[in-house]
Order: sequence, then structure tokens, then C-alpha cells
Amino acid sequence: MRTRVAALCALALIVTGVQAQTVKNFLAAVTQKWTAPFEPFHLIGNIYYVGTDGIAAYIIKTSQGLILMDTALEQSTGLIKGNIAKLGDIKYILNTHAHFDHTGGFAEIKKETGAQLVAGERDKPLLEGGYYPGDESNKDLSFPPVKVDRTVREGDKVTLGDTTLIAHSTPGHTPGCTSWEMTVKDGSQDRDVLFFCSGTVALNRLVGHPTYPGIVDDYRSTFAKVKAMKPDVLLGPHPEVYGMQEKRAQMKDGRRTHSSSRASLRPMWPASNRTSTNSSPGKPLRFTRPISGDVPQV
Ligand SMILES: [Zn+2]
Ligand SMILES: [Zn+2]
Repeated sequence: MRTRVAALCALALIVTGVQAQTVKNFLAAVTQKWTAPFEPFHLIGNIYYVGTDGIAAYIIKTSQGLILMDTALEQSTGLIKGNIAKLGDIKYILNTHAHFDHTGGFAEIKKETGAQLVAGERDKPLLEGGYYPGDESNKDLSFPPVKVDRTVREGDKVTLGDTTLIAHSTPGHTPGCTSWEMTVKDGSQDRDVLFFCSGTVALNRLVGHPTYPGIVDDYRSTFAKVKAMKPDVLLGPHPEVYGMQEKRAQMKDGRRTHSSSRASLRPMWPASNRTSTNSSPGKPLRFTRPISGDVPQV
């Protein structure tokens, strides 16, 4: 019996070692892209992309200040801040999910702006502990803990000035994974925008010792729920979720519609604040409506 226990312990150590190595390898493979700068740009309506080359973050400009949706890795916080014209105007920080690659800048930006952090109810312990669910002691996946000022559940609303976002609970990727919906004006049209949290497995465990109890059921319910969602504009926590880079390139060379007459759509940050200079400053941009509701569009 003792031998068997010892063998199991040894196996557990090996498995843990393998997992730790896998995480390190994974991070080594993605960190360069995740931390590379990307020129901030106007997406649609009052939404702006302020993330990195591999991690999305957004600014929503309202009549009473800014809403920041997510940040990136902790070491990219200076870059994210540089992408935002007036940091002090941030009134709310919204979170899609409490993973280290989207939450690394929360503590610093919250401290500097006094903004209120709003997140899914079940992600609150993760944010306030600064850890990956089910892997609490893994420093590679940790981030600066941050106080959550308000938690949301399905259907809860966050309003600032003329803008309201609706929370949709889409758990699985994290227990409190929250997708946010809002409407933007696109010329004379209203467009329904969805900031989808995520539906990938990521570093989660679904079998054996699951990342958290009920994770498989959560994924199943989320898959069923999002099938019925047909937003005009789909955004996500990583740019590749919606082919951002390709669409942005199309915008730049004119293969996507530009709107040139509406002052309200002008980029909010001066060219001097941008992280790169190969831009076309002052040129307002918008994306066209998707041809099919099933095709994700920025
Ligand atoms: Zn994630
Ligand atoms: Zn991520």
C-alpha cells in the first residue's frame, strides 16, 4: 500500500512538473506576440482598440468619461496606458474574465484613476486573489490582485453617460466569464456589439481534477447560449478571435469601409500618444455590417 501511495505521489509530482513545464513553454511561445505593440485605432461607434498585438483591450468613450474593457499582461500596462489619451477619464474598468493576460494592468490603472472595477460575480475571488482558477499557487499565471467594486450576473447593466453595457454570463473559460453587449451608432444604423468573453479551454482541466467543479456543464450551457447570439459586431479578448489584424489591414488599404465625414468617429488620441507612427492619423474608420450573422466581424 505504502509503495502504491509513493508511486502515486511520484506520478503526481511528474504530472505537476510536466504541467508546469507546459505552462512555461506555452508562455514562452506567446509572450512576444502578447506584449508587442499595436497601433490603437477607432473600431466603430464609440469603441476603440487599445490592446497589444496579441491581447485585446478596448476603450468605450461615453458622454461622461471612459470605460476600459480589460488590459493585458502586467508588463504591458505602460503600453496600454500609452494607447489611451486621457487616463484620468476612465470611470469604469470592465472585465471579461479573470485571466492574467487580461487583468495585469487593473491594479495599477485602478489606483491611478480611481475607476470602479466591474466583473462577473464568480470571478471576484480570482481577481482579488490574483490567481488562475485551480492553479492558485502558480506564480507564472498570477497577476496583481485588485479589489472588485461591483459584481454582475446575467442581464445586469452598467451605465455611464449615454452608454449602457449588458452583462451576459458565459462561464467555462473562467467561472465568472462575462460577455458584454452594447449598441453603437454607425451612421444612421444601430449596431449590436458583443465583447465575447471566450469559449476556449485554455489551460483549464476538464477531466480528472477539473479546474473548478461544474466547469464542463458551464461550457455546455455557454455554447448553447452563444449559438443564439447574433451580434452585428463580434469582438473578443484576443484579436485573432475575430481576425482583427487582417480586417485592420483591409481598413488601411481601403478594402473596408471608411467613414470620413463624422467628427464623432475621429480617433480620440493625438498622434503623439500612439505607440507606432505608421498610422493615418485623423482618419475615422468603421467596419461594415457582416454579410452573414455567422461570420464574425470586427
Ligand atoms: Zn483567458
Ligand atoms: Zn487570454
